[in-house]
Amino acid sequence: MIIVGGGASGLSLAHHLAAACSSTVTLVEAPDGPRRPPERTWCYWERGTGDFAEAVSASWSRLRVHGTDGRTITVDPSPLRYRMLRSTAFEQLVHSRLARSPGSRVLRATADTVQDTADGAEVRCTTSDGRTLTLRARHVFDSRPLRSLPPARTLLLQHFRGWYVRTDTDRFDPAVADLMDFRVPQPRHGLAFGYTLPLAPDRALVEYTEFSRAPLTTTAYEAALAHYCRDVLGLGAFTVESAEQGVIPMTDARFARRTGPAVFRIGTAGGATRPSTGYTFAAVQRQSRAVAAALRDGRAIVPAPHGRRALAMDAVLLRALDTGRIDGPGFFTGLFRRVPPERLLRFLDGDTSLGEEWSIGLHTPVGPMLRTAVELPFLPRRSQPDP
Ligand SMILES: Cc1cc2nc3c(=O)[nH]c(=O)nc-3n(C[C@H](O)[C@H](O)[C@H](O)COP(=O)(O)OP(=O)(O)OC[C@H]3O[C@@H](n4cnc5c(N)ncnc54)[C@H](O)[C@@H]3O)c2cc1C
Repeated sequence: MIIVGGGASGLSLAHHLAAACSSTVTLVEAPDGPRRPPERTWCYWERGTGDFAEAVSASWSRLRVHGTDGRTITVDPSPLRYRMLRSTAFEQLVHSRLARSPGSRVLRATADTVQDTADGAEVRCTTSDGRTLTLRARHVFDSRPLRSLPPARTLLLQHFRGWYVRTDTDRFDPAVADLMDFRVPQPRHGLAFGYTLPLAPDRALVEYTEFSRAPLTTTAYEAALAHYCRDVLGLGAFTVESAEQGVIPMTDARFARRTGPAVFRIGTAGGATRPSTGYTFAAVQRQSRAVAAALRDGRAIVPAPHGRRALAMDAVLLRALDTGRIDGPGFFTGLFRRVPPERLLRFLDGDTSLGEEWSIGLHTPVGPMLRTAVELPFLPRRSQPDP
């Protein structure tokens, strides 16, 4: 088995394949350079202690949302817990697991082409010292980012910058994570919120996020973050220890999961990013487990990362947000206010029944959502400019 790209989805699949002892894995990860993203933070919710306890750097049993009016909603989604992984810790965990798995390895090389062959697939790569290699396997799972997004009716971007801050005095409650804080100035199009993950009474990851059509400049993110830290959170004196920034496409595009008989796409490139939230990590775990189980039974399949109903509802929400028919902050705070938290998080993970989804739908602005749902089938999917 060859996995191309050792980011969230490639590492997760390698981990689950190694755990299932189903096959040997070659994980091809780009050498340090422009293709390899900087260290990132991945958060997700799950029950129990989970598979990656050694790599989890923090977790929270309570979540909070702040409305534009300053009212707060604090929820306890138990038995689910919100967890944070740093990509470097996750990479170390999976690499050491592969090192213990006979026949498996991590190859630092750039994959140039991935293609089907008569009896499987091959990956042509270039190593950091300029050597070219051809790897062959029965199946290849490719997580390289797409050069351009497939056609869509709506494309919004979730774009953000975060600071790891250390305050001079204790300012955070490490028991509660602030998922969405709408007390920031709202943009003319889309929505904006603060996101605070406290790591200690004097340390936190604080982010400024927008769902809108275009990213900001670093200067504009920094100004928004400074305002949020100073005027909304009232952090007093603090230092910024490191920063991270990202853009996640939120789109109703259709992503191919198979590009040939033996070549599959995984991760964001294979449609694993939930369009309405940008969350990807939990879907990647579900999909990786299913791929590993199927391979153990001798079948190569990559199940859809999200169900049809979830994608249809997300398409409606994205368009309703993009057209300004619904008020984004009101929509999300309303959900947290009215829907039982464990059900809401399962809903965001696409793990709810039709009945539960109806009841959640009734807590949304029904008129604008229905109007949007009725017009969607008549709208063409258009090619998108690269984010
Ligand atoms: C800053 C940031 C924070 C995020 N936080 C969250 C979060 O908290 N929770 C969540 O659910 N989602 C989050 N996401 C969204 C999503 O989970 C991530 O984008 C995730 O990394 C996607 O996984 P992936 O495997 O598809 O892509 P990546 O993790 O980007 O992995 C792709 C890998 O392919 C490698 N690669 C690229 N080209 C080549 C090549 N030619 N040859 C070999 N290797 C190659 C890259 O080096 C990279 O390691 C975040 C995204 C960003 C950008």
